Amino acid sequence: MKKLLPTSIAGSLPKPSWLAQPETLWSPWKLEGDELTQGKQDALRLSLLNQQQSGVDIISDGEQTRQHFVTTFIEHLNGVDFQQRKTVKIRDRYDASVPMVVGEVTRQKAVFVDDAKFLRQQTSQPIKWALPGPMTMVDTLYDSHYKSREKLAWEFAKILNQEAKELEAAGVDIIQFDEPAFNVFFDEVNDWGIAALERAAEGLKCETAVHICYGYGIKANTDWKKSLGDEWRQYEEIFPKLQSSSIDLISLECQNSRVPMELIELLRGKKVMVGAIDVATNAIETPEEVANTLRKALQFVDADKLYPCTNCGMVPLSQHVTRGKLNALSAGAEIIRQELTR
Ligand SMILES: [Zn+2]
Repeated sequence: MKKLLPTSIAGSLPKPSWLAQPETLWSPWKLEGDELTQGKQDALRLSLLNQQQSGVDIISDGEQTRQHFVTTFIEHLNGVDFQQRKTVKIRDRYDASVPMVVGEVTRQKAVFVDDAKFLRQQTSQPIKWALPGPMTMVDTLYDSHYKSREKLAWEFAKILNQEAKELEAAGVDIIQFDEPAFNVFFDEVNDWGIAALERAAEGLKCETAVHICYGYGIKANTDWKKSLGDEWRQYEEIFPKLQSSSIDLISLECQNSRVPMELIELLRGKKVMVGAIDVATNAIETPEEVANTLRKALQFVDADKLYPCTNCGMVPLSQHVTRGKLNALSAGAEIIRQELTR
């Protein structure tokens, strides 16, 4: 029988201190060449072991082989010039220096497929692999070629689809697209964002997920959250169309967030990865706190469709805090499993 409430992480885990500077976003590598390749594989093995020891059911790569969840993917593509940079406002929220699209974007070779094959060899547990979503990729670049966010997203969707199909062939069970931009550009999401996402997932036989969120605990994000008022209803704008989309799982932030839990009702029928771990604080949740969040979510998600998860990536946290939080996630999920099978 399939395990009820399978746990997983939304995205990143801390990297070992010999691979990259700990508790730092977008930290550069400390190794290079063959040592870097070997170091990344060792880190993948360690992050697998950490997840297994914490009782995580669906294993992720913890983003051990990438510096940034969007730009590492883009670095492998043709048509983007990383020397020519422009400062633009991203997520309609903060200024960032981003590379420039200067020509047709194409993928010459696979980006993460070797890493996925390596992780596949290490475990028989289900594996989830994250890729950036087309809209978030567009929103992390300056485009001087296509001059249309929609057109560029469509080109990225085709490239993502090539990568996703190879990840599927490598044995990945769930392919997740990270779309934090979905929380910001509602009109575009409904006009073309979800269509581009479906294009990226087209023809896949494995399960597909989309992660939407309010971002890491960096200042620009916490300031933005303060401006959103007592109730965060952003998801309300896009859930109806996501509900009728071809994507199987929706991953979202629920722990310590002001998202009214009843909004999840708009997704009824979808599998929901409920964020029950806050990644913007070092305070470690108790199993009972995790269980409370899951219990609330159960009013709006059928038990066989509830996937306990973290709110977002954990790379800015320490190994110690991360371990505590993952243990709490497993223990909290177990409390609810017991209640459901009693
Ligand atoms: Zn996130």
